[in-house]
Amino acid sequence: MSITISSAFDSGNIRVVKQDGAAIDLEIVADHMSDFYQWFHFRLAGAAGQEVTLRITNCAGSAYPHGWPDYKARVSHDREEWVLAENTSYADGVLTIRLTPSSDVVWLAYFAPYSMERHHDLVSSFAQIEGVGYRSLGKSLDGQDIDCLTIGEGPLTAWIYARQHPGESMAEWFMEGALEKLADPDDPVARALRKAVTFHLVPNMNPDGSKRGHLRTNAVGVNLNREWHAPSAEKSPEVLCVRNAMDAQAPDFAMDIHGDEAIPANFLAGFEGIPSLTERQTRLFKLFSDTLERLCPDFQTAQGYEVPAPGQANMSMSTTQLAERYGCLSMTLEMPFKDNFDMPDPLYGWSPERSKYLAHHCLGALHAILSDLKA
Ligand code: ZN
Repeated sequence: MSITISSAFDSGNIRVVKQDGAAIDLEIVADHMSDFYQWFHFRLAGAAGQEVTLRITNCAGSAYPHGWPDYKARVSHDREEWVLAENTSYADGVLTIRLTPSSDVVWLAYFAPYSMERHHDLVSSFAQIEGVGYRSLGKSLDGQDIDCLTIGEGPLTAWIYARQHPGESMAEWFMEGALEKLADPDDPVARALRKAVTFHLVPNMNPDGSKRGHLRTNAVGVNLNREWHAPSAEKSPEVLCVRNAMDAQAPDFAMDIHGDEAIPANFLAGFEGIPSLTERQTRLFKLFSDTLERLCPDFQTAQGYEVPAPGQANMSMSTTQLAERYGCLSMTLEMPFKDNFDMPDPLYGWSPERSKYLAHHCLGALHAILSDLKA
Protein backbone atom coordinates (compact mmCIF):
# COMPACT_ATOMS: atom_id res chain seq x y z
CA MET A 1 0.00 0.00 0.00
CA SER A 2 1.30 3.46 -0.84
CA ILE A 3 1.45 6.44 1.49
CA THR A 4 -1.19 9.09 0.83
CA ILE A 5 -1.85 12.63 1.98
CA SER A 6 -5.30 14.22 2.01
CA SER A 7 -6.84 17.48 3.16
CA ALA A 8 -10.33 17.45 1.61
CA PHE A 9 -12.15 17.86 4.92
CA ASP A 10 -13.27 20.55 7.39
CA SER A 11 -10.34 22.97 7.90
CA GLY A 12 -8.00 20.83 5.79
CA ASN A 13 -5.08 22.58 4.10
CA ILE A 14 -2.07 21.16 2.24
CA ARG A 15 -0.87 20.45 -1.29
CA VAL A 16 1.49 17.63 -2.28
CA VAL A 17 4.27 18.97 -4.47
CA LYS A 18 6.41 15.86 -4.80
CA GLN A 19 6.40 12.37 -3.33
CA ASP A 20 9.11 9.76 -3.38
CA GLY A 21 7.88 6.91 -1.20
CA ALA A 22 8.04 8.11 2.41
CA ALA A 23 9.71 11.43 1.50
CA ILE A 24 7.00 13.95 0.74
CA ASP A 25 7.30 17.64 -0.15
CA LEU A 26 4.28 19.76 0.70
CA GLU A 27 3.06 23.34 0.40
CA ILE A 28 0.52 25.22 2.47
CA VAL A 29 -2.27 26.63 0.29
CA ALA A 30 -2.99 30.39 0.48
CA ASP A 31 -6.38 31.60 1.69
CA HIS A 32 -8.86 31.95 -1.20
CA MET A 33 -8.43 35.41 -2.85
CA SER A 34 -5.57 36.25 -0.48
CA ASP A 35 -1.81 35.80 -0.09
CA PHE A 36 -1.98 34.75 3.58
CA TYR A 37 -1.07 31.21 4.56
CA GLN A 38 0.34 29.43 7.60
CA TRP A 39 -2.43 27.04 8.74
CA PHE A 40 -2.01 23.41 7.69
CA HIS A 41 -4.08 20.36 8.55
CA PHE A 42 -3.84 17.05 6.73
CA ARG A 43 -4.09 13.29 7.04
CA LEU A 44 -1.21 10.93 6.40
CA ALA A 45 -2.32 7.37 5.61
CA GLY A 46 -0.65 4.04 4.95
CA ALA A 47 2.61 4.71 6.82
CA ALA A 48 2.35 2.57 9.96
CA GLY A 49 5.81 1.65 11.24
CA GLN A 50 7.65 3.59 8.52
CA GLU A 51 9.75 6.67 9.05
CA VAL A 52 8.16 9.45 7.01
CA THR A 53 9.83 12.76 6.16
CA LEU A 54 7.38 15.58 5.50
CA ARG A 55 8.84 18.84 4.22
CA ILE A 56 6.66 21.97 4.03
CA THR A 57 8.72 23.88 1.52
CA ASN A 58 6.97 27.26 1.21
CA CYS A 59 7.31 28.48 4.82
CA ALA A 60 9.53 31.46 3.96
CA GLY A 61 6.66 33.13 2.10
CA SER A 62 4.06 32.46 4.78
CA ALA A 63 2.28 35.22 6.69
CA TYR A 64 4.59 34.94 9.72
CA PRO A 65 7.98 33.44 8.84
CA HIS A 66 9.08 34.12 12.45
CA GLY A 67 6.46 31.62 13.53
CA TRP A 68 8.53 28.66 12.34
CA PRO A 69 11.77 28.69 14.37
CA ASP A 70 11.21 26.79 17.66
CA TYR A 71 7.79 25.64 16.45
CA LYS A 72 6.63 22.02 16.60
CA ALA A 73 3.75 20.59 14.54
CA ARG A 74 0.84 18.87 16.30
CA VAL A 75 0.10 15.23 15.58
CA SER A 76 -2.82 12.99 16.53
CA HIS A 77 -3.82 9.35 16.00
CA ASP A 78 -7.37 9.73 17.28
CA ARG A 79 -8.14 13.43 16.53
CA GLU A 80 -8.74 13.93 20.27
CA GLU A 81 -5.24 14.06 21.72
CA TRP A 82 -2.81 16.31 19.84
CA VAL A 83 0.83 16.06 20.89
CA LEU A 84 3.92 17.88 19.70
CA ALA A 85 5.63 16.26 16.73
CA GLU A 86 8.94 16.12 18.59
CA ASN A 87 11.04 15.77 15.47
CA THR A 88 10.04 19.06 13.84
CA SER A 89 12.81 21.35 12.60
CA TYR A 90 13.01 24.53 10.57
CA ALA A 91 15.78 25.77 8.28
CA ASP A 92 15.98 27.82 5.09
CA GLY A 93 12.24 28.26 4.69
CA VAL A 94 11.50 24.54 5.06
CA LEU A 95 9.66 22.98 7.99
CA THR A 96 10.67 19.31 8.26
CA ILE A 97 8.60 16.85 10.27
CA ARG A 98 9.94 13.33 10.74
CA LEU A 99 7.69 10.75 12.34
CA THR A 100 7.06 7.02 12.45
CA PRO A 101 3.30 6.61 12.86
CA SER A 102 2.14 3.77 15.08
CA SER A 103 -0.95 3.28 12.95
CA ASP A 104 -1.98 3.69 9.34
CA VAL A 105 -4.01 6.86 9.80
CA VAL A 106 -2.44 9.88 11.46
CA TRP A 107 -3.33 13.58 11.46
CA LEU A 108 -1.08 16.62 11.46
CA ALA A 109 -1.99 20.27 12.01
CA TYR A 110 -0.54 23.68 12.83
CA PHE A 111 -2.48 23.55 16.11
CA ALA A 112 -5.17 21.24 17.55
CA PRO A 113 -8.05 21.94 15.13
CA TYR A 114 -11.47 23.12 16.26
CA SER A 115 -13.82 21.81 13.59
CA MET A 116 -17.13 23.33 12.53
CA GLU A 117 -18.72 20.05 13.65
CA ARG A 118 -17.35 20.63 17.13
CA HIS A 119 -18.52 24.25 16.91
CA HIS A 120 -22.07 23.05 16.24
CA ASP A 121 -21.83 20.57 19.12
CA LEU A 122 -20.65 23.41 21.39
CA VAL A 123 -23.45 25.79 20.40
CA SER A 124 -26.14 23.08 20.59
CA SER A 125 -25.06 21.78 23.97
CA PHE A 126 -24.91 25.22 25.60
CA ALA A 127 -28.16 26.36 23.96
CA GLN A 128 -29.89 23.55 25.89
CA ILE A 129 -28.76 24.90 29.25
CA GLU A 130 -31.27 26.84 31.36
CA GLY A 131 -30.18 30.47 31.46
CA VAL A 132 -28.20 30.35 28.21
CA GLY A 133 -29.76 32.18 25.26
CA TYR A 134 -29.00 31.59 21.59
CA ARG A 135 -29.34 33.90 18.61
CA SER A 136 -27.92 34.10 15.13
CA LEU A 137 -26.49 37.57 14.57
CA GLY A 138 -26.40 37.16 10.78
CA LYS A 139 -24.90 35.09 7.97
CA SER A 140 -21.42 34.63 6.62
CA LEU A 141 -20.80 34.92 2.87
CA ASP A 142 -21.04 31.13 2.52
CA GLY A 143 -24.36 31.24 4.39
CA GLN A 144 -23.27 30.02 7.81
CA ASP A 145 -24.82 31.55 10.93
CA ILE A 146 -22.79 33.84 13.16
CA ASP A 147 -23.74 32.16 16.41
CA CYS A 148 -24.03 34.09 19.66
CA LEU A 149 -24.70 32.67 23.13
CA THR A 150 -25.93 34.91 25.94
CA ILE A 151 -25.54 34.14 29.61
CA GLY A 152 -26.03 36.18 32.80
CA GLU A 153 -28.52 38.89 33.68
CA GLY A 154 -26.38 41.67 35.14
CA PRO A 155 -26.41 45.37 34.26
CA LEU A 156 -22.87 45.31 32.81
CA THR A 157 -22.42 44.08 29.23
CA ALA A 158 -19.48 41.92 28.16
CA TRP A 159 -18.69 40.71 24.65
CA ILE A 160 -16.18 37.91 24.17
CA TYR A 161 -15.61 36.94 20.53
CA ALA A 162 -13.09 34.72 18.81
CA ARG A 163 -11.62 33.37 15.63
CA GLN A 164 -11.78 36.40 13.38
CA HIS A 165 -8.61 34.68 12.19
CA PRO A 166 -9.79 31.13 11.57
CA GLY A 167 -6.37 29.44 11.69
CA GLU A 168 -6.05 30.52 15.34
CA SER A 169 -8.02 27.54 16.57
CA MET A 170 -6.85 27.98 20.17
CA ALA A 171 -9.26 30.92 20.25
CA GLU A 172 -12.29 28.65 20.01
CA TRP A 173 -10.84 26.24 22.60
CA PHE A 174 -10.66 29.33 24.82
CA MET A 175 -14.34 30.05 24.12
CA GLU A 176 -15.27 26.48 25.06
CA GLY A 177 -13.46 27.03 28.37
CA ALA A 178 -15.20 30.37 28.92
CA LEU A 179 -18.63 28.83 28.32
CA GLU A 180 -17.91 25.88 30.61
CA LYS A 181 -16.86 28.23 33.39
CA LEU A 182 -19.71 30.71 32.93
CA ALA A 183 -22.43 28.05 32.77
CA ASP A 184 -21.21 26.18 35.85
CA PRO A 185 -24.11 26.36 38.34
CA ASP A 186 -21.86 25.90 41.38
CA ASP A 187 -18.77 27.98 40.56
CA PRO A 188 -18.89 31.05 42.85
CA VAL A 189 -17.01 33.28 40.38
CA ALA A 190 -19.44 32.33 37.62
CA ARG A 191 -22.43 32.91 39.90
CA ALA A 192 -21.18 36.39 40.83
CA LEU A 193 -20.37 37.20 37.19
CA ARG A 194 -23.80 36.07 35.97
CA LYS A 195 -25.42 38.35 38.54
CA ALA A 196 -23.30 41.38 37.64
CA VAL A 197 -22.84 40.95 33.88
CA THR A 198 -24.75 39.96 30.76
CA PHE A 199 -22.30 38.07 28.51
CA HIS A 200 -22.54 37.79 24.74
CA LEU A 201 -20.18 35.15 23.40
CA VAL A 202 -19.39 34.67 19.71
CA PRO A 203 -17.28 31.49 19.59
CA ASN A 204 -16.49 31.77 15.88
CA MET A 205 -16.63 35.02 13.89
CA ASN A 206 -15.25 33.40 10.75
CA PRO A 207 -16.94 30.04 10.08
CA ASP A 208 -16.21 30.21 6.35
CA GLY A 209 -12.47 30.64 6.81
CA SER A 210 -12.54 27.90 9.46
CA LYS A 211 -14.21 25.40 7.18
CA ARG A 212 -12.06 26.34 4.18
CA GLY A 213 -8.82 25.84 6.09
CA HIS A 214 -7.83 29.51 5.96
CA LEU A 215 -5.29 31.19 8.18
CA ARG A 216 -6.54 34.75 8.34
CA THR A 217 -9.45 35.61 6.03
CA ASN A 218 -13.07 34.89 5.12
CA ALA A 219 -14.56 33.40 1.94
CA VAL A 220 -13.44 36.37 -0.20
CA GLY A 221 -9.98 36.80 1.28
CA VAL A 222 -10.89 39.63 3.68
CA ASN A 223 -9.10 39.97 7.03
CA LEU A 224 -12.08 40.59 9.33
CA ASN A 225 -9.92 42.33 11.92
CA ARG A 226 -9.24 45.16 9.45
CA GLU A 227 -12.92 45.85 8.77
CA TRP A 228 -14.31 47.25 12.02
CA HIS A 229 -14.26 50.91 10.95
CA ALA A 230 -16.36 50.17 7.84
CA PRO A 231 -17.76 46.63 7.63
CA SER A 232 -19.84 45.83 4.54
CA ALA A 233 -22.44 43.25 3.54
CA GLU A 234 -20.36 42.46 0.44
CA LYS A 235 -16.96 41.92 2.02
CA SER A 236 -17.41 41.45 5.75
CA PRO A 237 -20.99 40.68 6.80
CA GLU A 238 -19.54 38.71 9.74
CA VAL A 239 -18.20 41.94 11.26
CA LEU A 240 -21.19 44.04 10.21
CA CYS A 241 -23.70 41.83 12.03
CA VAL A 242 -21.60 41.58 15.20
CA ARG A 243 -20.89 45.32 15.30
CA ASN A 244 -24.62 46.09 14.77
CA ALA A 245 -25.46 43.79 17.69
CA MET A 246 -22.85 45.57 19.80
CA ASP A 247 -24.35 48.96 18.86
CA ALA A 248 -27.65 47.67 20.31
CA GLN A 249 -25.99 46.28 23.46
CA ALA A 250 -22.87 48.34 23.95
CA PRO A 251 -20.01 46.60 25.73
CA ASP A 252 -18.54 47.72 29.04
CA PHE A 253 -15.96 44.97 28.60
CA ALA A 254 -14.83 43.37 25.34
CA MET A 255 -12.30 40.69 24.61
CA ASP A 256 -11.15 39.53 21.16
CA ILE A 257 -9.44 36.12 21.23
CA HIS A 258 -6.48 35.29 18.97
CA GLY A 259 -3.32 33.23 18.55
CA ASP A 260 0.10 34.65 17.76
CA GLU A 261 2.45 32.74 15.48
CA ALA A 262 5.77 34.17 16.67
CA ILE A 263 5.72 35.18 20.35
CA PRO A 264 6.00 32.20 22.76
CA ALA A 265 3.80 33.70 25.50
CA ASN A 266 0.28 34.78 26.39
CA PHE A 267 -0.25 38.52 26.26
CA LEU A 268 -2.80 41.29 25.85
CA ALA A 269 -2.91 44.11 23.32
CA GLY A 270 -4.92 47.23 24.09
CA PHE A 271 -6.14 50.45 22.49
CA GLU A 272 -3.48 52.96 23.52
CA GLY A 273 -3.46 55.04 20.33
CA ILE A 274 -7.20 55.76 19.98
CA PRO A 275 -8.23 59.43 19.54
CA SER A 276 -10.49 59.70 22.60
CA LEU A 277 -8.47 57.62 25.04
CA THR A 278 -9.52 58.24 28.65
CA GLU A 279 -7.58 57.89 31.87
CA ARG A 280 -10.28 55.49 33.08
CA GLN A 281 -9.76 53.15 30.12
CA THR A 282 -5.99 53.15 30.60
CA ARG A 283 -6.34 52.45 34.31
CA LEU A 284 -8.86 49.62 33.80
CA PHE A 285 -6.71 47.96 31.13
CA LYS A 286 -3.68 47.98 33.41
CA LEU A 287 -5.76 46.76 36.34
CA PHE A 288 -7.18 43.84 34.35
CA SER A 289 -3.79 42.93 32.92
CA ASP A 290 -2.02 43.05 36.32
CA THR A 291 -4.83 41.08 37.95
CA LEU A 292 -4.68 38.38 35.29
CA GLU A 293 -0.91 38.16 35.70
CA ARG A 294 -1.35 37.61 39.46
CA LEU A 295 -4.07 34.99 38.97
CA CYS A 296 -2.61 33.03 36.06
CA PRO A 297 0.96 31.68 35.91
CA ASP A 298 0.51 31.17 32.13
CA PHE A 299 -0.03 34.92 31.57
CA GLN A 300 2.62 37.63 31.49
CA THR A 301 3.06 41.30 30.62
CA ALA A 302 6.76 41.51 29.71
CA GLN A 303 6.38 40.38 26.08
CA GLY A 304 3.83 41.67 23.58
CA TYR A 305 3.23 44.00 20.66
CA GLU A 306 4.71 47.46 20.38
CA VAL A 307 2.34 50.06 21.84
CA PRO A 308 1.22 52.64 19.23
CA ALA A 309 2.00 56.31 19.83
CA PRO A 310 -0.86 58.61 20.92
CA GLY A 311 -3.36 59.01 18.08
CA GLN A 312 -1.70 56.30 15.99
CA ALA A 313 -4.10 53.40 16.64
CA ASN A 314 -5.31 51.32 13.70
CA MET A 315 -9.06 51.95 13.96
CA SER A 316 -9.95 49.11 11.57
CA MET A 317 -9.22 46.57 14.32
CA SER A 318 -11.98 45.50 16.69
CA THR A 319 -10.23 46.28 19.97
CA THR A 320 -9.45 49.89 19.06
CA GLN A 321 -12.77 50.45 17.28
CA LEU A 322 -14.79 49.23 20.28
CA ALA A 323 -12.70 51.21 22.78
CA GLU A 324 -13.28 54.36 20.72
CA ARG A 325 -16.90 53.68 19.82
CA TYR A 326 -18.17 52.73 23.28
CA GLY A 327 -15.50 54.15 25.62
CA CYS A 328 -15.23 50.63 27.04
CA LEU A 329 -12.46 48.39 28.32
CA SER A 330 -11.45 46.47 25.21
CA MET A 331 -8.57 44.10 24.56
CA THR A 332 -7.06 41.49 22.29
CA LEU A 333 -5.82 38.31 23.92
CA GLU A 334 -3.03 36.50 22.11
CA MET A 335 -2.08 32.87 22.84
CA PRO A 336 0.99 31.14 21.41
CA PHE A 337 1.19 28.50 18.68
CA LYS A 338 4.58 27.47 20.03
CA ASP A 339 4.19 27.36 23.79
CA ASN A 340 4.51 29.59 26.81
CA PHE A 341 8.31 29.22 26.96
CA ASP A 342 8.34 30.38 30.62
CA MET A 343 6.31 27.30 31.52
CA PRO A 344 6.71 24.82 28.66
CA ASP A 345 4.91 21.51 28.32
CA PRO A 346 7.18 19.04 26.48
CA LEU A 347 4.33 16.71 25.47
CA TYR A 348 1.54 19.06 24.35
CA GLY A 349 3.03 22.55 24.07
CA TRP A 350 0.35 25.22 24.24
CA SER A 351 -2.86 23.19 24.07
CA PRO A 352 -6.66 23.18 24.08
CA GLU A 353 -6.72 22.41 27.81
CA ARG A 354 -4.38 25.27 28.66
CA SER A 355 -6.40 27.63 26.45
CA LYS A 356 -9.48 26.70 28.48
CA TYR A 357 -7.74 27.33 31.79
CA LEU A 358 -6.63 30.72 30.52
CA ALA A 359 -10.29 31.51 29.79
CA HIS A 360 -11.18 30.55 33.37
CA HIS A 361 -8.50 32.90 34.67
CA CYS A 362 -9.61 35.76 32.41
CA LEU A 363 -13.09 35.44 33.88
CA GLY A 364 -11.53 35.35 37.35
CA ALA A 365 -9.71 38.59 36.57
CA LEU A 366 -12.93 40.15 35.28
CA HIS A 367 -14.63 39.16 38.52
CA ALA A 368 -11.79 40.67 40.55
CA ILE A 369 -12.16 44.08 38.83
CA LEU A 370 -15.98 44.22 38.76
CA SER A 371 -16.27 47.01 41.33
CA ASP A 372 -13.78 49.13 39.33
CA LEU A 373 -15.65 48.41 36.10
CA LYS A 374 -18.94 49.52 37.66
CA ALA A 375 -17.45 52.76 38.98
ZN1 ZN B 1 -5.27 36.82 15.05
